Amino acid sequence: MKVFKFGGASVKNAEAVKNVAGILRNFQKEDLLIVVSAMGKTTNALELLAQAYFKKDKAKHKIYKEIKSFHDEVISGLLKNKNSHAYNDIENLFIELECLLETKPESSFDCVYDQIVSYGEIFSSRIVSTYLNESNVRNRWMDAQNFISTDANFREGKVDWELTTEIISKKLKPIVKKQMVVTQGFVGRSADLKTVTLGREGSDYSAAIFAYGLGADSVTIWKDVDGVMNADPKKFPDAVKLDGLSYSHAIELAYYGATVIHPKTIQPLQSKNIPLYVRSFLNPKGKGTTVANNSKEKNIPTFIAKSNQVLLSISSKDFSFIIEDNLSKIFSVFAHQKLPINLMQNSAISFSVCADNHENKVAALKKDLSKDYNVKVNTGVELLTVMHYDDASLNSLLKGKEILLEQRTRATVQFVLK
Ligand code: ASP
Ligand code: MG
Repeated sequence: MKVFKFGGASVKNAEAVKNVAGILRNFQKEDLLIVVSAMGKTTNALELLAQAYFKKDKAKHKIYKEIKSFHDEVISGLLKNKNSHAYNDIENLFIELECLLETKPESSFDCVYDQIVSYGEIFSSRIVSTYLNESNVRNRWMDAQNFISTDANFREGKVDWELTTEIISKKLKPIVKKQMVVTQGFVGRSADLKTVTLGREGSDYSAAIFAYGLGADSVTIWKDVDGVMNADPKKFPDAVKLDGLSYSHAIELAYYGATVIHPKTIQPLQSKNIPLYVRSFLNPKGKGTTVANNSKEKNIPTFIAKSNQVLLSISSKDFSFIIEDNLSKIFSVFAHQKLPINLMQNSAISFSVCADNHENKVAALKKDLSKDYNVKVNTGVELLTVMHYDDASLNSLLKGKEILLEQRTRATVQFVLK
């Protein structure tokens, strides 16, 4: 049993969906679960729609129309039979969303966001599933929300692993054994039956959750790149593909900003030793990258640049040492604001933290901490992480940059750069 995940770029228009069908045609003998994301940039558009709806802004009608006509174009390039049930079902989904927009927003913004933004995956998976069936790649569409149970932490749902695993293995697995299943990434459902999304770009994570529950043999993420590269080719022209990667290296790459895999994806796979293949839907014959326990890793440097970072320097007002007491106070403020720390360093009376620059969270954090500490905020900085580093590559990378902070272990060096 295998899990395939197709992201937004792989289904961004009719041609792209046809390409996906071409890939799947070669795997029809396998037991296959297909996880798809929203088409192209639909999720961004739905985010705007959710905001407009929540603010009761008339712009919602225009945004909705744009989303609808984008999908209409994809549909008209794919589906021939406009009298079919499946076609009607898709039309009805749009009507459902349109009707929702006419109601009064009655919950928190985050809840509203999830109820609206999740339509992207629903539309996409319905269209893909219908097209596949019409082109003889027989499959069954299933609602991921019936399988992935979460808490009610909207926009960043926490998975109830016990329940989710049980439902997937008891209810979904027998179906996948009989027939290819097409479902959605990014979404789950809370105990009170609200849609809860798993965080932006969360479809990779969904694929891993399904694979964990199914006890799958592998997960394949189909991307528009040949595999995991040792650096972002847009920023580093000499980037090369990595054939093999250990789980721990992959998790660090993802955590420190390599966008090719969502950071939460690795942990469930690692715990069941399920290999992850990253392959190109543009070059499906290519071997891609294998992430697994025994993957042979080349010892070449890997560079990850994470931009839009903030460097916070926190020092005690009364010259008290930054040790246990102060550290636990500081950490609790970070935990309270839910601001993840990417790098930290302490000295006798100061503590430095590099984190993602979520402006609202950083402002709230500064306000909280300023009662007891001097807090300096340095925005517009970049976090550069280099694994398996060597001096030659570091020298050329750092040329002309101001290093605000540096931290080294034997395998990894990190710089906060201005
Ligand atoms: N459609 C969602 C997003 O764009 C989830 C995903 O693509 O992984 O964030
Ligand atoms: Mg996406």
